[in-house]
Amino acid sequence: MDAATRPQLRFLHDELEELKAKHLYRHLPILSGEQKAVTEVDGRTVINLSSNNYLGLTTHPKLRRAAIETTRKFGVGTGAVRTIAGTMSIHMELEKQIARFKNVEAAVVFQSGFTANAGTVSAVLGKDDLIVSDELNHASIIDGCRLSKATIKIFKHRDVSDCERILQETANWPGRKLLITDGVFSMDGDIAPLPQLCDLAERYNCIMMVDDAHSSGVLGRGGRGTVDHFGCHGRVDIQVGTLSKAIGSMGGYVCGSRDLIEFLYHRARPFLFSTSHPPAVIGACQAAFTLLESPDGERLVKKLWSNTKFFRRGLKRLGFDTGASETPITPIMVGDAAKAIEFSKALFEEGVFAQAIGYPTVPLGKARLRAIVTAAHKRADLQKALETIGRVGGRMGMGSA
Ligand SMILES: *Cc1c(COP(=O)(O)O)cnc(C)c1O
Repeated sequence: MDAATRPQLRFLHDELEELKAKHLYRHLPILSGEQKAVTEVDGRTVINLSSNNYLGLTTHPKLRRAAIETTRKFGVGTGAVRTIAGTMSIHMELEKQIARFKNVEAAVVFQSGFTANAGTVSAVLGKDDLIVSDELNHASIIDGCRLSKATIKIFKHRDVSDCERILQETANWPGRKLLITDGVFSMDGDIAPLPQLCDLAERYNCIMMVDDAHSSGVLGRGGRGTVDHFGCHGRVDIQVGTLSKAIGSMGGYVCGSRDLIEFLYHRARPFLFSTSHPPAVIGACQAAFTLLESPDGERLVKKLWSNTKFFRRGLKRLGFDTGASETPITPIMVGDAAKAIEFSKALFEEGVFAQAIGYPTVPLGKARLRAIVTAAHKRADLQKALETIGRVGGRMGMGSA
């Protein structure tokens, strides 16, 4: 019998209908080819401002070659979790390489940035502990906090005094304390006040953790992340990064002290209970870090930033509000969600792919387009995107065009 007709799941259908009525139902945009700066989405060639492929590594020849070579040499799968028989020499090599890149003792790779955060927070903290967390931290941090069963206190976004207020109120907390923040916030593109948060962590004896998913490959020397960007070496106990964004492939990692990493080998549930990365992914990531450590990598990061500045300047000149962004994540503020969706659709029709983001991903009344600039965009692509945004926005009464 067709599952859709069974009454047990009828409520799913009803909820979907409700989403459609509220214009919150989303279809999945489908790429028919590679993830790159100009690509084909739903059958239309578009300038792609919607990917996290910051350095254009998803299609880089060196990564592609490495993935193929590691597949030839090691096969397509590992057939086990890391602790049983799923650790290959290349996993260990990649982790050494990441630790060297980040200038820390050790690193461990997870299946995704999501599992790295959720697995680490829930392993390190327990029910007697306290987590102090920025209100805009990523969903994987929130889930990790919930899984830990610790007490969770939320401070206002990037608000150091609100964070301190919570730490003062909990100064006599008997358990362990974690202060946790995204390095770069994924919807606004602003940067955490890391040095000040490190000061607080030191003053109030907290474990300090930063999620650099949108900062590795983007901020710091050669893309070494927010710790490097701010010169906070040695002050952040746990750094998380992803291999799925700037690194161009898939996975997440945690780095810090040797003890932290060995503890995670024993306690992080995604590490213990989910199979390790296939060789192709590891090979591609190794090639990515080798590239980042070379002058070519530094050139890519520079290109990313000059493209970012060019694009943001262009938007401002057209009279658009780019919010608090300081990074390649560039919101184009609209306000009303329905209008943001309409704007995004109209741009798509004219060859620019920038997704609309509304409630609940961002607060009500703060709907926007979210454009992400990469090093792989040509100036001409960005110029054309700016012209289109100006023209279409103008038609809809936005910007000053
Ligand atoms: C994307 C993202 C993650 C998850 O990374 P994946 O590798 O895609 O699972 C975690 N944290 C933040 C802040 C992110 O933006």
